[in-house]
Amino acid sequence: MHNDKIIMLRVVKSPVLRGMRAVEVAPQAFENLPDCPLCRSKKFLKDVAIVERGAIVTACIDSEHVFFRRRPTVAWFNEFYKEDWDQRGRTGRRKSANKTNNKIEQFCSAFLRPGSRVLDAGAGYGEALLAFQNAGHSVHGLELSAHRAQFLNQNGIPCTNAAIEEFRTSEPFDLIVLHHVFEHLPNPQEVVAAIRRLLKPEGYVYIAVPDLWQEHPPKAIHFVPHLHWYSEKALTRILAAFDLSVVQSLTTKEIQILAVASEKRVSTPRGDHSSQADFLRRLQDQITNSFGETSGCRTIACCKAAPEAALRMEQHTFHGDFTPWALGVALRNLDRLPKRLASRVVKYVVGPLVPDRITKILMKPRSYMLTIQSDGPAGLPIIVSHNSKPAAVWVK
Ligand SMILES: [Zn+2]
Repeated sequence: MHNDKIIMLRVVKSPVLRGMRAVEVAPQAFENLPDCPLCRSKKFLKDVAIVERGAIVTACIDSEHVFFRRRPTVAWFNEFYKEDWDQRGRTGRRKSANKTNNKIEQFCSAFLRPGSRVLDAGAGYGEALLAFQNAGHSVHGLELSAHRAQFLNQNGIPCTNAAIEEFRTSEPFDLIVLHHVFEHLPNPQEVVAAIRRLLKPEGYVYIAVPDLWQEHPPKAIHFVPHLHWYSEKALTRILAAFDLSVVQSLTTKEIQILAVASEKRVSTPRGDHSSQADFLRRLQDQITNSFGETSGCRTIACCKAAPEAALRMEQHTFHGDFTPWALGVALRNLDRLPKRLASRVVKYVVGPLVPDRITKILMKPRSYMLTIQSDGPAGLPIIVSHNSKPAAVWVK
């Protein structure tokens, strides 16, 4: 069925990252998970990618879940989100007190009574909560970032600077929202337990996450903030384990799911041999297609396609290495330049030296380019080594 030959991919140049950067994580700042964070079993685990000096990506083929089995520790992430991530948020984002995003409110509105109590865990700058507030609901935010919590409180949205596991209230909620938060959580089970505790008996939880099948492996195996690559089945399962039953779901460029708390036990059918084999085959195809199956040197350039499209990654693979040393230095420093200057550098300096498609991709603010030397035909796990450091761990 699948090929068990191990394949080495050597990343021969520092990658060109736009909207991301590579960081050094010390060996002692990694931890190893003993089992699947969803089903707590070891039985169905299959390593899919091993990044030297980086993470190990593993699939639980029964839960249809992919996660980082070796990953930076919780302490490392706490430090990263408090300092680094927050610092970039502070400087990198225009804050507007009346910017709303009604996507979540629209998704949930048919299920909510007027005047419901809504909690957004990871409220950001409050765009989603503001839409609920405008629709007549009473809202509360949770933010790990002190300055974002302060921003919300100053702009009419009550917000607590705490993690959901630590948050206590005497008034439970009708709806709890986790918008692009769940994939970042070291311990999703603890968070679902906290959600259950904070919900009214027939309350709802809304979760939006990236779709496993739209992750682009050359990026995703390095991008440690997304600790989990969820499938719809995996999400349904983790919710069912806490008696939360899915009432509505929609997969576009992301997975959105709405589930209701139930007093009865919620069960989901377990996978069988054939569904496990299908899952693994599909995952292997996704990984090998994105890295390319033949041996030799090639450059992969990737960006997000039109944001409204369901499949949003656009990849172009070129044989050979398009980044002579000086050009590589220029490319890697693009994001330090003012935006207009960076796009001029790409157009007039990089443009004449690399294929047209690469130029177009590198014009996009979230794009990357990776040059690899491959042993050819790939099986799982792939083993990825980096010639230069730091390169094995990427963050925003
Ligand atoms: Zn599992």
